Amino acid sequence: MRIGTVKEIKNHEYRVGLTPESVQELVRNGHEVWVEMGAGLGIGASDGEYQRCGATMIATAAEIFAGCEMVVKVKEPQAVERAMLREGQILYTYLHLAPDPEQTADLVKSGVTAIAYETVTGPGGSLPLLKPMSQVAGRMSIQAGATALEKAHGGRGVLLGGVPGVMPGKVAVIGGGVVGFNAAQMAAGLGADVTILDRSADVLERLGNHFEARAKTRFSSTANLAESVAEADLVIGAVLIPGAAAPKLVTREMLGTMKPGAVLVDVAIDQGGCFETSYATTHADPTFVVDGIVHYCVANMPGAVARTSTYALNNVTLPHALAIADAFDGAEGWKAALRADPHLAAGLNVHAGHVTYEAVARELDYAF
Ligand code: NAD
Repeated sequence: MRIGTVKEIKNHEYRVGLTPESVQELVRNGHEVWVEMGAGLGIGASDGEYQRCGATMIATAAEIFAGCEMVVKVKEPQAVERAMLREGQILYTYLHLAPDPEQTADLVKSGVTAIAYETVTGPGGSLPLLKPMSQVAGRMSIQAGATALEKAHGGRGVLLGGVPGVMPGKVAVIGGGVVGFNAAQMAAGLGADVTILDRSADVLERLGNHFEARAKTRFSSTANLAESVAEADLVIGAVLIPGAAAPKLVTREMLGTMKPGAVLVDVAIDQGGCFETSYATTHADPTFVVDGIVHYCVANMPGAVARTSTYALNNVTLPHALAIADAFDGAEGWKAALRADPHLAAGLNVHAGHVTYEAVARELDYAF
């Protein structure tokens, strides 16, 4: 199969669909890989590196869309990219179609077969192609929070790990899923005093068994949450209610109970945020202050560590890309890969002019 990857053109997107190492694996399996010149520069991968791994470097995205049977990306195709999609071509990337009627209409019209990373499932209903980005954001949240706690950034001047003879900082992590677990790991690793709040007994038990004395777990009742937030130097918002906006767990009133210069990192901002006072910010200007409390609310945290994020993403996307490519026979053979793996089949969102993912069809009023 001829597979292509293009330079991402969405604002401030530095990740890339295929790393040089992924290209090498595809080429070793007998596939041809076209890479747009400069596609890897955002992760520090040069054209030469791609070439050494067997890629054919191509000058323009247009040639790749015109000549490749599958295009592997990171972000949803932008309007100019959508105009280049072809009938029968496979597009494998994050799509997030439900809130995006324009993109959905263009994909339907193009006749493309679009497989969305975010709906590929794993055992137990997990979403393995979203997980690495939550891991990155969770780990980054402590780094971002620690920086915001410095005086020069508006924080209260607390070093999370403390030093011998001085108490460590207190970190409250609200939500003990993938983001919360990774945040707690980083905070505990620094030596901070960590409390993780969740409403799921199973989650609390799993966290308790994992962290033992390195982090405390606490049921996320209104009273417990208010107390933990008031005591914290750093609060991480990491809740998720699938399919719904994040609940506003920290109200503006509660900011008045916090220590001046304490920091809130609202990782759930991409779902509207779990602090009442949050609004989405960018890496260029990540923080703002409300009632003396520093807020960090960047909606695409993994973008700041594009290299780590790209490698983490490729670890989970490559096996499926290989399965699709290996099953490809110039016609509809790739369907065998989806039949063989219902988790991959769950990723199919648009095919041959139809929306094939029920939740998207329902949301945007397409026949299903
Ligand atoms: P997850 O499903 O693994 O975990 C969410 C946890 O929240 C669950 O354990 C759930 O029990 C818990 N929860 C629900 N209601 C709660 C409440 N009232 N109090 C305490 N806990 C509660 O989800 P995740 O992968 O960890 O993602 C968390 C959030 O981070 C999501 O909104 C996700 O979209 C977001 N996210 C943001 C970025 C970014 O760049 N900002 C990147 C990745 C993920």
